[in-house]
Amino acid sequence: MKKILTKLTFTLSLASMVSFGPIFGGDANSIKIALNKLVEGNQRYVNSMTVCHEDWSAKRLAQVQGQAPFAVIITCSDSRVPPEIIFDQALGDLFVIRVAGNVVDDFAIGSIEYGVTVLGADTIVVLGHSNCGAVDGALKGLKFDNHIQEVLNAIQPAIENVKGTSGNVLEKAIKANVIHVEAKLKGSKPVLAKLLEQGKLSILGAYYDLSSGKVEFLDKQ
Ligand SMILES: [Zn+2]
Repeated sequence: MKKILTKLTFTLSLASMVSFGPIFGGDANSIKIALNKLVEGNQRYVNSMTVCHEDWSAKRLAQVQGQAPFAVIITCSDSRVPPEIIFDQALGDLFVIRVAGNVVDDFAIGSIEYGVTVLGADTIVVLGHSNCGAVDGALKGLKFDNHIQEVLNAIQPAIENVKGTSGNVLEKAIKANVIHVEAKLKGSKPVLAKLLEQGKLSILGAYYDLSSGKVEFLDKQ
């Protein structure tokens, strides 16, 4: 409860952050609790036993003065992969960054840093998904004369090693892309790498199966 109140206290604007100072991550226990919430929420979703999408008015009112999400989710813009639904979480629980192919640029990393240092989330999940059109396009070497190409270009380096291999190459490419983005975040200075080193932050990769609804954590910590 104390942690929640602390988080709410610091759920302030960036301008306020300057005067109050940012908060930095959680600890092993809060990180474990966050992961459990995601795993259990996904199990509820898979079993059609969701509990977080009722009584919207009360939840709206409870969030008016601030937010204290416990996790940051970076995932694809794909309409079939809405984090709040597949993890069965309520308003204010997840700080979400969505871009096709779940790639990250400076805007995304800035948003992630805000979710962690200002809002107090201590768990970051990079979530890829089966049948990802963006990764598939990169794998096939599709060419566009517009901004879609920028997304494919960002995915290309991650999937070089799986091209031409046997088995489900698309799934391997999607997971390779998740691991690539995860590694980029783990090495991101000055904030994320430092918090990770201090054990105050967890960065995980995960894979969502469109058919079963299950989220597989690729490197459970
Ligand atoms: Zn996708």
